[in-house]
Amino acid sequence: MKASDIRQKFLQFFAAQGHQVVPSSPLVPAGDPTLLFTNAGMVQFKDVFLGKEKRSYSRAVTVQKCMRAGGKHNDLDQVGRTARHQTFFEMLGNFSFGDYFKRDAIDYAWRFLTGELGLDPAKLWITVFETDDEAYRLWQEVAGVPSDRIVRMGEKDNFWSMGDTGPCGPSSEIFVDRGEEYACGPQCGLGQCDCDRIQEIWNLVFMQYNRDETGTLTPLPRPSIDTGMGLERIAAYLQGVDSNFETDLIFPLIRTLEDMTGVSYDPGPEGMPFRVIADHIRAITFLLAEGVSFSNEGRGYVMRRILRRAMRYGRLLGFESPFLYQLVPVVGEIMGDAYPEVTNGQTVIQELVKNEENRFLATLSAGMRVLAQKLESLQPGAVLSGEDAFQLYDTFGFPLDLTRDVADEHQVRVDEAQFEVLMQEQRERARQNRGKTVQHLPAPGPTTFWGYETLELDNEPI
Ligand code: ATP
Ligand code: MG
Ligand code: MG
Ligand code: MG
Repeated sequence: MKASDIRQKFLQFFAAQGHQVVPSSPLVPAGDPTLLFTNAGMVQFKDVFLGKEKRSYSRAVTVQKCMRAGGKHNDLDQVGRTARHQTFFEMLGNFSFGDYFKRDAIDYAWRFLTGELGLDPAKLWITVFETDDEAYRLWQEVAGVPSDRIVRMGEKDNFWSMGDTGPCGPSSEIFVDRGEEYACGPQCGLGQCDCDRIQEIWNLVFMQYNRDETGTLTPLPRPSIDTGMGLERIAAYLQGVDSNFETDLIFPLIRTLEDMTGVSYDPGPEGMPFRVIADHIRAITFLLAEGVSFSNEGRGYVMRRILRRAMRYGRLLGFESPFLYQLVPVVGEIMGDAYPEVTNGQTVIQELVKNEENRFLATLSAGMRVLAQKLESLQPGAVLSGEDAFQLYDTFGFPLDLTRDVADEHQVRVDEAQFEVLMQEQRERARQNRGKTVQHLPAPGPTTFWGYETLELDNEPI
């Protein structure tokens, strides 16, 4: 089943159950400075759930563009390592604003998966919050799931809150067992490991309490439903491929990279550069299409770091000149029908990507030489000092994760604690300098110096 058919089926199924089809909101959340990127379908409905905003409908269905890089949800480090994480992905979601609750949410999800998509019920597993007896019972009653396939889990996995106060409640997740051949070992199992065999596909959140400042939970008069299913994950399962990266949503990018490099894709660890690049160019293309620009702070800084990371993996495939920009039209071919913004802006997006690639290449090669020299003098198991990592950052614009990745390959650890201390000192200096009046600013002009890419996001593990 093509991904575009899954999107359609999802929207149609829930529309037929009285849900308003609402378009995806932008990746840059409107009027929400607390959030770097839209990371779930519910983001555009936050105020509706909070009762601050009224809509003409009480049920909605969306296919939402999401980004999980930077901020509270940051999957950047997982990308390419697991079969199931990207930074950019699409989330299919159905929502009830004080309308239906647990019973119907469970019934709809189950009917969609086993009916519309034809999933074998024997392959599905369910988790519920440890004390949510109601959900535990409903899965058996409504969906006929045997009790030995329903696992009770703790707060970390199965309790959701919007913030420290406000709506919250237990969640229930649907997992699919992809088969013995994916097992990570003898202990492999739901709640036992976090491997890709029994994979989470759909999260149903039952918003049923309000949490006040003292932490007390009071039942909401009209509980709500918020759900999210990863499109790439369900597509991977239905298309019978090993990972999200091999679905029709991403694989054409990997194919193009194969053509460009003459290197064949390896679905194992060796294929990591292909997967990282394919993910990152999707993220960059969508962000640029929304008007985010490369910069030294905020969202533009996250995007810059994503591009640099993609380029660094590009080097492993032999790219020494700009190449990412050539993938932009491929993103357009795959995604343009559903998201016209990526094809409409294509020429400009390509130009912006290419410029940024050129900019980074100049410093990258200089920095790589310095890092290689430093690593040469270290034995496997040794530690690269925080000063060295900081110098690479400060002088060559090397984000810590890049240094960490390269050091990893030499089995060298980076003293990140010391790096952090030096970063903190630099931030402090910057803060103090901000207070001073600068009399004679140097005239702005071309510069190849890349230092002082500081700022807010540096303490995030991106
Ligand atoms: P996981 O435990 O696998 O990291 P999650 O619990 O963090 O997933 P949720 O926050 O529950 O994910 O999001 C709802 C759904 O969105 C998930 O069930 C999954 O199908 C999908 N999803 C979440 N993160 C990603 C990602 N980084 N890439 C692709 N799909 C994702
Ligand atoms: Mg996660
Ligand atoms: Mg999870
Ligand atoms: Mg989840």
